[in-house]
Amino acid sequence: MPDLLDLSAPQPRCPDCEVAIGQPHIEGCDVAMCLRTGLQRLSCERNHNCGKDIWSGRWPGETDCERLGWMIGPGLPDLNRLFTTATWNPVTQQWDAAS
Ligand SMILES: [Zn+2]
Ligand SMILES: [Zn+2]
Repeated sequence: MPDLLDLSAPQPRCPDCEVAIGQPHIEGCDVAMCLRTGLQRLSCERNHNCGKDIWSGRWPGETDCERLGWMIGPGLPDLNRLFTTATWNPVTQQWDAAS
């Protein structure tokens, strides 16, 4: 299969707000995550400053799944497992596996 389906390949621009790697997502971007909760910023309803998430070229959570070894297959991070069982650490801005 061609690389089109390889989700792990870095994307030079955010698929939603189209900022380049290293730049903060614009307001209302679908992909940006809340730096306090690790969840989607757009749907964050907490009364706090969600911070300025930076587009890294990868989907939020993808590198965490790789680090934790939570992959369904090559290039297929188990994001469901990450968001349901891991704990967001706002200090390191990483997901930690529950011990
Ligand atoms: Zn974006
Ligand atoms: Zn938030």
